[in-house]
Amino acid sequence: MDFFNKAKRVVVKVGTSTLTYESGSLNIRTIEKLVKVLSDLKNSGKEIVLVTSGAVGVGMGKAGYSKKPDELAKKQALAAIGQCELMNFYDELFSHYGHTIAQILLTKDVIDDKIRYENAKNTFENLFELSALPIVNENDTISTEQLEFGDNDTLSAYVSALTGADLLIILSDIDGLYNKDPKKYFDAKIIGTVEKIDENIEACAGVATSNRGTGGMITKITAAKIATKAGCDMIIANGKDPYILYKIFDGEKIGTTFVANK
Ligand code: GLU
Repeated sequence: MDFFNKAKRVVVKVGTSTLTYESGSLNIRTIEKLVKVLSDLKNSGKEIVLVTSGAVGVGMGKAGYSKKPDELAKKQALAAIGQCELMNFYDELFSHYGHTIAQILLTKDVIDDKIRYENAKNTFENLFELSALPIVNENDTISTEQLEFGDNDTLSAYVSALTGADLLIILSDIDGLYNKDPKKYFDAKIIGTVEKIDENIEACAGVATSNRGTGGMITKITAAKIATKAGCDMIIANGKDPYILYKIFDGEKIGTTFVANK
């Protein structure tokens, strides 16, 4: 199956538990591999968007917090610290491979407001024309309940719709969507392909969650609904080794694929 190899515009979402250690320090080995493979995919002619989490997690690490604070303003301050550190690191690594990155921070009102939506869309298009690689996160420092996506799974799906992406890959700390809880049932199996998101699929999402990110499997199903409705295929795969992205484009059957409504 070389189908995914044909995908030209690809959004890759990576979660906090993949990018950082429990302490909030950057997982350098994983990020280096991620940047290397994304740079290479870009060299091969694909247009790549990276949706990154980790701002709060890295900010916590830098500021010496071992637990996420409850107070919103504290979390927002930590996100402001962490976002700088993250982007600085991405910039250094992508520059090494000759790529220009661009930071895009979004809030939910961009999706809901026609003019803002068009503006964001035009910005992405111009970045692709400039051959830059957009790196997106939620604008955590100003996101409050009315404005927030809440999790980057949902954000990445909206970004896929906004950019007209062919494929969204969510790299998580779980291998895919299981038919039952793999922590309880040794015979639990990954569902390879989902053609339609029905109650059975929703029920499976209730059982297996990832460990440290904001979203669990339920937010990934929400993301799959948004992405597939917009005509974008979506894959959930384990991001522990980002070279898994090569396998996906080489046609190996990895994780769970949600087939776009076309
Ligand atoms: N925007 C948050 C951050 O960068 C992460 C949200 C999520 O993990 O879903 O820390």
